[in-house]
Amino acid sequence: MAEELEILKQQGNFRTLPPVMYPGYEMVKNGEPMLNLSSNDYLGLASRQELREEFLQELSARNFLPTSSSSRLLTGNFPVYEELENELARLYNKESALVLNSGYHANTGILPAISTEQTLILADKLVHASLIDGIRLSNARCIRYRHNDMLQLERLIKKYEADYREIIVVTESLFSMDGDITDLWHLSILKKTYPKLLLYVDEAHAFGVRGSKGLGLAEEMYALDNIDFLVGTFGKAVASAGAFIVCKKIVKEYLVNRMRTLIFTTALPPVNIAWTLFILRKLPDLKQEREHLATISKQLRQGLEAKKYVCPSTSHIVPLIIGSNEETIWMAEKLQKNGFYTLPVRPPTVPEGTSRIRFSLTADMSEEDVEQLLSVIDNKP
Ligand code: PMP
Repeated sequence: MAEELEILKQQGNFRTLPPVMYPGYEMVKNGEPMLNLSSNDYLGLASRQELREEFLQELSARNFLPTSSSSRLLTGNFPVYEELENELARLYNKESALVLNSGYHANTGILPAISTEQTLILADKLVHASLIDGIRLSNARCIRYRHNDMLQLERLIKKYEADYREIIVVTESLFSMDGDITDLWHLSILKKTYPKLLLYVDEAHAFGVRGSKGLGLAEEMYALDNIDFLVGTFGKAVASAGAFIVCKKIVKEYLVNRMRTLIFTTALPPVNIAWTLFILRKLPDLKQEREHLATISKQLRQGLEAKKYVCPSTSHIVPLIIGSNEETIWMAEKLQKNGFYTLPVRPPTVPEGTSRIRFSLTADMSEEDVEQLLSVIDNKP
């Protein structure tokens, strides 16, 4: 261990747990308040005290349930779980929904459950670690296609179609490191062309933020009907914890019988599910927050492009791609000294040579905040 850690230190890849005080709009490090550009609280809901006060009014010692004390398959299936699932199914206009403990549980549980040796998984090269781990735990063969390369994806489908019972395409809708998006419309067309194709889409970073009701990019791109396994997480824009899948009823029944990360774990506390439901009911009305986030995101992307940075993003996740680890760490420190809390993102989270600062904008930031941030960044050398 010591040797390996030493190598990580020499490579500039050593990680520590940063001490954090109040991770809201502002966070405090060493007594200094900084604008928090590293959280996934995309709608700015986590720091809105009035929401918590409103929620607390519904609570008493009788219904404040801090634990479920068992798996949902034993005694942990409280009515509030079903309320939340009914609300999700209704919003998405899908047959059913299943709530899970986290996005990590979702991706590492669903993929092994739904695939066999007769399944081929085609996964985007940049999918999140939880999807990669889910694929590794499955019995399926997996081939990765170049990021968002729909032509290569179609070539692979044609080549292997006859050899497998089904092909599952696994992708994120909004990628967490480049902030770019997948053409879900194109994927829908592929699904219609190749009957063996199933679509698995992780909307972790788009849920809450995109689409007119905040349901994500599948809503925005009119692709909801074509996605077989649509996963979203509650730990980001909706300021809670947990995850969900919306799917056909039979898929839910199958997962309840086969999904190990659902069956063999204690369900999330009912109070947490109640909070998620409380926020979810407000989600369709948070249009103003979504529009403001889109406005400041565009402002930041255009500002970086004007400074000659290549910016792949088309969303509120905006990377400042620097390249080497050392320069990226130096830039993160410079930004922190100027009051902007950002962290360097390095391999293996991103490909070698593309170390970056990942700006994660939230709806409670102002155009002046973005202006000030841009003023600290010099033109690309
Ligand atoms: N999917 C994606 C695309 C993610 O970025 C993340 C976490 N950052 C997850 C899943 C995991 O979600 P959770 O934090 O709820 O485990």
